[in-house]
Amino acid sequence: MTNALKVAWDAIRDFLGFRRHNSYTRKYLNDANIRSSIYMSFIIFAIEIWMIIRSLNKYVIPLTKEGNSFMEMLFKHTSQYWLFLFAALAMLVFSIYYMVEKTNRAGKRGYTVRSKVIPLIFAIILIIYSFFIFKETKYFKDWSVTYYKVSNVGVILLYFFSFLEGITIAGHCVYKHLKGENNLIFSIVTIVFFSAICLTFGFKVGYTDYFSGFYRGTALPVKAGTVVELGGSYEIKAAYCFLTMVLYVGCLLIWKPYISLITLSATFWTFAAMLNGDPANRVFADGDVVNYITFYISLTIITISIYQQRISEAKKSENLERIAKYDIITEIYNYSHYVREVEKILKEDIENLNEYYYIFINIQNFKTYNDQMGFSEGTIFLKKFATKISEVFNEFPSARESGDHFVAFTKVEGIEEKIKVLEEFIRTDANGLYMNLKVGAVRPIERSEDINTSVDRARYAAGTITNKYGKVFAEYDDKMHDSYKKKQYVINHLDEAIENGYIRPYYQPVVWSKDKKLCGCEALARWIDPKYGFLSPGEFIPTLEDVRLIHKLDKCIFESVCRDIRKVMDEGKTAVPVSINFSRLDFELMDAVAEFESLIEKYNIPKEYVHVEITESALTANQSHLQECIEKLHADGFAIWLDDFGSGYSSLNVLKDFKFDVIKIDMKFLSNFEQKPVSKIILDAIVKLSEKIGMLTLTEGVETKEQADFLSDIGCGRLQGYLFGKPIPLDALIEDIKNGKYTVSDELIGVNHN
Ligand code: C2E
Ligand code: CA
Ligand code: CA
Repeated sequence: MTNALKVAWDAIRDFLGFRRHNSYTRKYLNDANIRSSIYMSFIIFAIEIWMIIRSLNKYVIPLTKEGNSFMEMLFKHTSQYWLFLFAALAMLVFSIYYMVEKTNRAGKRGYTVRSKVIPLIFAIILIIYSFFIFKETKYFKDWSVTYYKVSNVGVILLYFFSFLEGITIAGHCVYKHLKGENNLIFSIVTIVFFSAICLTFGFKVGYTDYFSGFYRGTALPVKAGTVVELGGSYEIKAAYCFLTMVLYVGCLLIWKPYISLITLSATFWTFAAMLNGDPANRVFADGDVVNYITFYISLTIITISIYQQRISEAKKSENLERIAKYDIITEIYNYSHYVREVEKILKEDIENLNEYYYIFINIQNFKTYNDQMGFSEGTIFLKKFATKISEVFNEFPSARESGDHFVAFTKVEGIEEKIKVLEEFIRTDANGLYMNLKVGAVRPIERSEDINTSVDRARYAAGTITNKYGKVFAEYDDKMHDSYKKKQYVINHLDEAIENGYIRPYYQPVVWSKDKKLCGCEALARWIDPKYGFLSPGEFIPTLEDVRLIHKLDKCIFESVCRDIRKVMDEGKTAVPVSINFSRLDFELMDAVAEFESLIEKYNIPKEYVHVEITESALTANQSHLQECIEKLHADGFAIWLDDFGSGYSSLNVLKDFKFDVIKIDMKFLSNFEQKPVSKIILDAIVKLSEKIGMLTLTEGVETKEQADFLSDIGCGRLQGYLFGKPIPLDALIEDIKNGKYTVSDELIGVNHN
């Protein structure tokens, strides 16, 4: 029950607008009011001009011709129009400068002199003009007649509110000058006074119009208490001015519902009371009463509904603005907002560009943290780290770029200390897990440069130290610039290179360890470019993986290999099986299984002639899709080879989860082979382990005879390395077979040795 009461009470509070809004909504509503004030004051300005011209024609000029003083007649017949005109003008100028400044990026840089001085000038004109009240009182008529009394009080109030409007606008200008920003309170009060002027005008003119219609035909003034005959031939009783003004103030501006309710009720009631005046002298006909009340109720409802609508708009707009500006997860700026902010800073805020850095920060090994601690803990960590970044780089914007990547903009001076703070944070908050920072930096060159390119360069610089232990910071230099450009070149020319046949497989021999006869080869991609010459995979494979285009290259290699095997077979030569490198991304970016199998079919290649190599690092995360693809290939009759075994972190797990035909032992076990006896023990153990779980072995990177002999002794079945041959084009390989450098083994298909 109490709950239901509370819900009801909350609903009533919302309906009446008793709730205090956050500063965004308050500002949103106020801005909407300021915008409406521009229309309102402009229309009023135009109407007053029209009224003045009308009065000139109707009264001032004819009366001047009759010998009266022009200035005197002008004042007598148009003074209040002028007052309203100046009030509207002051409001108009004030509102425009209020809005214009908002889009000019408020805050720090302060405001133009114009934005304070021009509204001030109009405010002063209004203030000065409001002193004409002392001249106006000379025209006041008999205070004992209600009709004149209302008119006189109306005039006094008009001048009074105008004076106050002038004062608040002037006050706002002074505030803006001192504080350098717009002030919400001043603008609200200004709008209130302007509304008061409108309402007073509505009252006064509405009242006098109504009664002049009413009294038309009878002699004015009518003394209080005079009984006026109803039902006579009186003209139209117009309260239009009153109704227009309440409509204006009620519907164009947004007030809290309870304020609208109070204001409108008081206004309508007072006006009705004024018209009715003496009960004995009732001028308000019954039919009018019904219409009048209907109008009052409708207006009140419309006003409240506009308010509710605006509030929901404000909330939506606030949400949109938040999404446009902030990263949802870390709640610091998002990347696009960072770009916008830095663009402004480059153009306006800083002098010597060379003293600044774009910063790119990568948390290395964050994936492990996520894997070990769980996704939500990972999110919490990112959030804390983001907050730290925004604290450390507090003078300029910083943002989350994506994943565990962050960007900042900062002074060159003091960068070391800032990075130290972040490193310290990573160390203490990593829960004992090994993570570290890789920070790249690049200096701005031009004020109008493309921020994305600069950030990309900082990212590139960070990437160059990815595998350099202990190195945290790298600044983009000329050397990096060359390789960066090469990287861009690779990305932009991949399609062209594939089309023109610049990319093709080289073949590296694989031999049986027992007799060193050729038992197969590995296809390794080469890019022979007209501009850059010979490119090795290290110069394009990681780049293409980064930008997720690797599948295009791999598809091209698959097809070339199939074509080569077909060609060899068609020429009646002995083809050897070829192992082909698959990237983990191939399975994400295309239907790799279908693409591969359709090529095999197209070139009619026996399945035993191609092996699928998948690198160990591709298999670390638990990826069911990848696993399914591999199982499918396996089931379809292709041998699956595990590449680079021992180079990653989770080698043994991989053996548990997947079934491989051959394990390619990474060449790093052979480095310092002679000096490190432990390598031999490990190699021996790997070969034995593989044997036990039913997988064959191949060791890569065999460069010396000692290595080959040792591997052969421990029972590693296949060998590959420079000792037997580097990767070479197909023709060269065929030539080497012909001239006896390689002897093709008789045991190629269906025979396996460990
Ligand atoms: P990988 O698959 O481990 O290939 C073996 C790499 O070791 C090759 O480098 C090869 O030239 C090199 N190598 C072979 N024997 C020796 C040796 O005795 N000593 C030394 N120091 N190195 C040796 P390469 O051709 O530069 O390829 C590098 C990597 O690029 C490959 O490593 C593979 O991961 C990737 N890659 C090459 N071609 C392709 C491809 O067509 N598709 C995909 N996705 N990746 C490819
Ligand atoms: Ca390989
Ligand atoms: Ca390898």
